[in-house]
Parts: sequence; structure tokens; C-alpha cells
Amino acid sequence: MHYDYLLVGAGLFNAVFCEHARRAGKTCLLVERRDHIAGNIYTKSVEGIDVHMYGAHIFHTSDPALWEYVNRFDTFNGFVNRVKAMYKGTLYSLPFNMYTFQQLWGVTDAEQAKAIIDEQRACLHGKTPENLEEQAISLVGKDVYLRLVKGYTEKQWGRDCKDLPPFIIRRLPLRFTYDDNYFNDPYQGIPVHGYTHMVQNMLGDTRVLLNTDYFDFIRSTSHTFSKTVFCGKIDEFFGYRFGKLEYRTLRFETQILDQPDFQGNAVINYTEYDVPFTRIIEHKHFNFRHQPKTVVTREYPAEYSDGMEAYYPVNDAKNTALYQRYEQLKSNCPSVIFGGRLGEYMYYDMDKVIASALRLCKAEGLA
Ligand SMILES: Cc1cc2nc3c(=O)[nH]c(=O)nc-3n(C[C@H](O)[C@H](O)[C@H](O)COP(=O)(O)OP(=O)(O)OC[C@H]3O[C@@H](n4cnc5c(N)ncnc54)[C@H](O)[C@@H]3O)c2cc1C
Repeated sequence: MHYDYLLVGAGLFNAVFCEHARRAGKTCLLVERRDHIAGNIYTKSVEGIDVHMYGAHIFHTSDPALWEYVNRFDTFNGFVNRVKAMYKGTLYSLPFNMYTFQQLWGVTDAEQAKAIIDEQRACLHGKTPENLEEQAISLVGKDVYLRLVKGYTEKQWGRDCKDLPPFIIRRLPLRFTYDDNYFNDPYQGIPVHGYTHMVQNMLGDTRVLLNTDYFDFIRSTSHTFSKTVFCGKIDEFFGYRFGKLEYRTLRFETQILDQPDFQGNAVINYTEYDVPFTRIIEHKHFNFRHQPKTVVTREYPAEYSDGMEAYYPVNDAKNTALYQRYEQLKSNCPSVIFGGRLGEYMYYDMDKVIASALRLCKAEGLA
């Protein structure tokens, strides 16, 4: 059989592309290496709770058209991410706002909080930051850095903040109000039936081959395709001929607890270095449900190696240069389009990956 598109990877990028292709009357075949659709936004019902199997995913966007688009595939609830940080037994409000400053210094006046932060920044004497530690102190002062940034960042990157480049933290927003909504975007929520349901609605009746690796499939298939949309790793596609792009990964430890509530909030970050995980997710709080049990996941950052999930690209100078070499090879394969976070070696939030897929749909004449 001939298909217009072979879609590699059943994540959000290809779900959006597939939905547009179907509406334009094109035929698609989707192959997915894992045993489920939805890629990293996969949710699975455990004890009646939608568990975010690859880490907490909160949809947020500033684009009303994009918000309208995702709401076609499920109703989104009014979840607002109000993250807390645990440091040595004290719970702080995030992102850094007047609640945080009150907890740190007992101040309720924005001018007082600004004055304390300015005084703590002054220790750098206006010097250009040479590492992440200096960068963070120049942005938020010593107290916020030491209690809420340092340990968390060192766990995330597996290195001391003094050995990390300053560009990793370009901004550390400070809010001198009591607004503790983690995101600035006006539209935010979680699909009430879970992300997997949303993706399934996008794919409709498209033929999906699960447990199917593209590289095995393409060697043996008798089907033909006009084009391929490849959402796997670009370096793998080109046989790692210039070497491997680097990633950071995560290990998830999930427990079902025989109690209705564990921490009273969806996300609590653990900002001490000595606590080995970076955060605990309590999934039921994304959906305001009241099941008798609860499911919690601890996230442990880890060094990436073969066979692990590649979560975060390491966009430093070395890897950016390597990616650019792979990008140049794309012109040798005019019928292959590289998309999504792995195909473009880019950290994308969900709204950004949808926007990227929509640009491709336009270029292909599907939107
Ligand atoms: C821990 C974590 C938390 C996040 N939280 C948020 C959040 O709160 N809000 C937000 O907006 N965004 C969040 N994101 C980002 C979000 O996960 C991405 O935007 C989105 O998943 C990207 O979709 P994608 O289709 O590009 O990639 P993916 O979802 O990774 O899909 C690619 C698919 O391709 C498959 N594949 C790869 N190679 C092959 C092959 N050779 N053959 C067949 N199949 C293959 C993979 O198995 C995968 O299923 C988070 C990301 C992480 C890592």
C-alpha cells in the first residue's frame, strides 16, 4: 500500500501533524517504538488516577488559537500550577514571590524585599557572572540561591553550580506580588480524560504500529511513502556518524499509597542537595479527584546513557555544533522531515511543539 506520510513517533508533534493530514484527506501510517501512543505526555489510569508516566505535564500557553485547538480534543480543567519547595523541613512558595520573601525574611512589603535582594546581590560588586552560581546570585541574591536554587540545580545537572556555565539560567523571575501561579501564560490546564485520550482523539482511526522501531520497520516493509516525518533522534537517523548528542535523563519511582492524600499539592520540589530526588508529584491533584488511594512519583535526575530515555538536550556549544553538522545532512534526504524535540534536538514545551508542528502543516499545505 502507498501512504502519503510515514509518521515516526506517536508523540504530540506527530499527533498534530496527523490530525491535519487526515483532515486534508492524506493517508498516514504511524510507527511507534514504545508500547503506547502519546510519547512523553502519556498518561495511564492507575487506581482511577491519571498518572503522568514521563513526569508532570501541565499545558500552558499565551496563544488563544492554540488553546482553542487543544480544547477540540478534550476539555481542559482549570488546574493552576502552584509549586512548593521543601528545604530542610520548611515549605516555601514558588516561583519566588512575596509569600517566599515573607517565609525567608518575615517581610510583607515589596520595597523591603527588593532592598534585601539588592543588598545580597552587591557581593558580586557588579562583576560579570562567570558561572551559574554567580549568575544566580546576581539575579536573586544569596538566600534564595542557597535555599531554593543551588541544590536543585546541582542535582539536575549532576555538577556543582560553580562548574556550570552562567547561560543555563538566563532568567530567574522575581515577583513582588502574592501571585504564586508558576506560569505567566493566561491559558493553563490538564485534559480531564488525560493526555493519552487527547492524543487518541487527534489520531482518530489512523493505523498505528506500536512496538515498532522505524529502523527495523523500514528495512522490511513493502509499503511505500511519499514523505516521512521523523520524530526520533536525528543523530540516530544518521547512524551517529559524527558522534552522539548528549542528554540528561530522569528516573521515576512511582508508588501507590493506601491513603487519600500524601502531600496536599501536585508538585513539591526538594531543593536540598542531600535529598536525591528533585521533586515529588502527587498525580491526583492535577485533576481535583477524591479517590481513596493516591499515586506519587519521585523524580531522580540522571546521566544519560544508551537505552535510557533522552529527556533534556544539553544545548551547550559542543552539542549545538554537533547538531548543526547533523542538520546539514538533512538536504541529502529531501523526503524526510525532522520534527519534535528529538528530531530538532530542542527542549520544547507542549505549546511550542504544537506551534512547530503547525508550521510544518502549513509548509506542507495541510493548514
Ligand atoms: C520531565 C518532563 C516534564 C515536562 N513537563 C512539561 C510541562 O509541564 N508542560 C509542557 O508544556 N511541556 C512539558 N514537557 C515537554 C513535553 O514533554 C514535550 O513538549 C512533548 O512531549 C514533545 O513531543 P514530541 O512529539 O516532540 O516528542 P515525544 O513525546 O518524545 O515523542 C517522540 C516519540 O517518538 C518515538 N520514537 C523515537 N524514535 C523512534 C524510532 N526509531 N521508531 C519509532 N518511534 C520512535 C518515541 O518513543 C516517542 O514516543 C516536559 C518534558 C519532560 C521531559
